[in-house]
Amino acid sequence: MENQGQLAQYIPELAKIDPDKLGIAFLSNENETFGVGDWQTRFSIQSISKVLSLSLAYNLLGENIWERVGVEPSGNAFNSLVQLETDNGIPRNPFINGGAMVICDMLVSHLKKPKSDFLEYVREISSCKEVNFSVATAKSEELVGFRNKALCNFIKSYGNIKNDPDEVLDFYFHMCSIEMSCLELTKTFRFLAFSNFKTFNGDKVLSLSQAKRLNALMQTCGFYDESGEYSFKVGLPGKSGVGGGIIALHPEKYGIAVWSPKLNQKGNSYKGMKFLELFTTETQLSIF
Ligand code: GLN
Repeated sequence: MENQGQLAQYIPELAKIDPDKLGIAFLSNENETFGVGDWQTRFSIQSISKVLSLSLAYNLLGENIWERVGVEPSGNAFNSLVQLETDNGIPRNPFINGGAMVICDMLVSHLKKPKSDFLEYVREISSCKEVNFSVATAKSEELVGFRNKALCNFIKSYGNIKNDPDEVLDFYFHMCSIEMSCLELTKTFRFLAFSNFKTFNGDKVLSLSQAKRLNALMQTCGFYDESGEYSFKVGLPGKSGVGGGIIALHPEKYGIAVWSPKLNQKGNSYKGMKFLELFTTETQLSIF
């Protein structure tokens, strides 16, 4: 397979990653795991974490969250500012950066200790107590995060960020800096892949209807302005991050995570996209 693309150069810490890393993990509905390559090496999951913060906000606040963020594909880059002015500060969906920041703002309002409470939640749904933020990556992104700071302050000017933008951004950068392996990613997303999933404490994370909605959002918005093409080629709900990771789900059947750090022009893993396209084509295991 050709090795095209570029590392996420705009975040200095991510520009240091070995571009040749490649890992794939598969988790079946029988809890069998398979993996190849660097499938147990942790990497920066970046925007994949936006699904986790969204699920926590949805769990805590229910349908109210949709008053402050939309559910339409944006057709624009994840860090674009253009639509926000005409949309009066209501981001098109929770996976573009502005939308994820509005969700972070909700969590900052509702959690006592936002960063540690969120981490605790991720550890619980992943059944992995060692999952953590990378403080170095969060700091690295904060130092160059002028566009994200602009987005957050712009939304604040419309009143759709309630807290201090610096606090929301600090939460956002930490959330994006979470590190997991491909194997841990597949485990973390069991709550969306398998309707019978319960946490170690016996809790269901989302209702069936909520899980259906988050899968639908991943399908339509999970790859930004490449969501249509991803859906066309792969045919599974999924989410990418600029660390080069992708998680994709076949509800009730399996979860699959791929990591290859070089990104295509839309900011999605070049090899990850190619691999998933080949995988669902060869196995004929897509949702369509
Ligand atoms: N932290 C990254 C950013 O805000 C997340 C982007 C992504 O993974 N697509 O730019």
